[in-house]
Amino acid sequence: HTRLQGDWSSDVCSSDLDAVGRKRGIGNGGGNDEREQTLNQMLAEMDGFGTERGSVIVLAATNRVDVLDNALTRPGRFDRVIQVPYPDLESRRQILQVHIKNVQVAPGVSIDKIARGTPGFSGAELENLINEAALHTAKSNRELLDVEDFEFARDKIILGAERKTMIQSVEEKKITAYHEGGHALLNMLLQNTDPFHKVTIMPRGRALGVSHSLPEKDRYSHSRTFMTERVQVALGGLLAEKMIFNEQTSGASSDIKNATNIIRQMVCSYGMSDQIGRAHV
Ligand code: ZN
Repeated sequence: HTRLQGDWSSDVCSSDLDAVGRKRGIGNGGGNDEREQTLNQMLAEMDGFGTERGSVIVLAATNRVDVLDNALTRPGRFDRVIQVPYPDLESRRQILQVHIKNVQVAPGVSIDKIARGTPGFSGAELENLINEAALHTAKSNRELLDVEDFEFARDKIILGAERKTMIQSVEEKKITAYHEGGHALLNMLLQNTDPFHKVTIMPRGRALGVSHSLPEKDRYSHSRTFMTERVQVALGGLLAEKMIFNEQTSGASSDIKNATNIIRQMVCSYGMSDQIGRAHV
């Protein structure tokens, strides 16, 4: 979130920088003029800041640094860019430590273990994890958050909330079971996948079932083998349906989308194809 320090009106203070700092001269009317005036004024103010009573430091945050007006990122204005990536293991441990002070945890709960089990979580998601765990504890009339509460909270955040009231036919459940079984089996049989975590046919969010692996450590790059095996796991559900029922369902749509995205990146961005793409010379 943006914190613009300085002499700005409060409504500017509360929005992300890209709300006012988008490139000028694009877009078609409809409030654009006002936004451009705000941006122009902001640029003018930033040039004249802080000579008499010391200097003023202007800070802003955005997720869309690519859409900012060039004049904003020129030296003398926002000239220092600090990237804030997703927290790594040690950062997650420290973030959890801050938020866990507000709750009482049972002996045996290890912050280190929670941090290791939450790669890819943002700071806000880690805070949410503890809130969800606390809610789960309160619902069962206990006072101390135990390991299971944290497991429940993590699954809810990663996989979506359980939809216990959804009515499905036995046949549908059977198809889902084989479908998820296909994912899970390949996940366990292949050598380079992330460790298998959980498989369920309890509908969660928009999914009829979920099979999930959990990375052991933060990954900063992926090998060709790892990506190929991810594609294989993604297509495991569809394969199982075909093998067992000699039929296909629409349930595999997001799997196919996933697999396609991975393959497209492998070929178009990473040069991992022997036949086509960038590495083929
Ligand atoms: Zn699937």
